Amino acid sequence: MSASVWSMRFWGVRGSFPCPGATTARYGGNTPCVSLEGPGPSLILDAGTGIHACGHALLERTEGPGTIDVILTHTHWDHIMGLPYFEPLYREGWTVRIHGPRPETRSLRDVIHALWEPSVFPAVPVADLQVVELRDDDFAIAGWRIRSYAMHHPGRTLGYRMERPGVRPVAYLTDNELEKPEEPAGSQWRVGLVDFLRGVGTLVHDTMFTDAELETRHGWGHSSPDAAVRLAAEAECRELFLFHHDVEKDDVAMDTVVRSTRLFAAGIAPGLSVDPTIEGTTLGLEDT
Ligand SMILES: [Zn+2]
Repeated sequence: MSASVWSMRFWGVRGSFPCPGATTARYGGNTPCVSLEGPGPSLILDAGTGIHACGHALLERTEGPGTIDVILTHTHWDHIMGLPYFEPLYREGWTVRIHGPRPETRSLRDVIHALWEPSVFPAVPVADLQVVELRDDDFAIAGWRIRSYAMHHPGRTLGYRMERPGVRPVAYLTDNELEKPEEPAGSQWRVGLVDFLRGVGTLVHDTMFTDAELETRHGWGHSSPDAAVRLAAEAECRELFLFHHDVEKDDVAMDTVVRSTRLFAAGIAPGLSVDPTIEGTTLGLEDT
């Protein structure tokens, strides 16, 4: 086993808006933020409210100033609302690069800089804040080879596959509707998505609504745990992590979702391990 361990840390796993409190304390209430950490620079995925704690931890363990890369899946509130509270932005000498797809109606730069418009936020970043619109679907950031795939979600949203030597490839697909009624099972998009995931060991996927809840929520851009299991099985992933938890599901309801998803997975993909993402936990990504 290599000494240079890379891991994935979950700082925020909740969809839509933060829901802190006693009934959601076990799974966590912060909105999406995940980091890839190891001996090199960290890579941060999404800037939900989880990025606040991520920023503090990063400053604590890094001899700064340095450069931090943040990749956004899209610019809906829950994925960017933590950015004004990302401490490295208020440290002289640091560089923070925000990468992401161009939103539908304005440039990514416009959307990001609007977070500090004086009528909604009083402070001004002193770090070098750079905003980079992703133009290619295969690129390298912070030592990772990253490929993107267009998600089924209102607005422009990308899912990412990340790999580097010695690490089992990992995919982060959130805010994605896998089984739209108008999307036939063998569609080009679906076949392309399965191809995109080939060789991925760890799949983190949006599982916000159950199949029953989705009956009235088609077009919202989210998936059920069972649909994510079907995808992970088809792409032959080794482990599936449920993500972007519904704010309406407290810890007890989440326990039920996890139990029923494991039961479903045992029936169609006995080799697939299924776990929920839990705020504050770390997942080792060594290639074994
Ligand atoms: Zn979201």
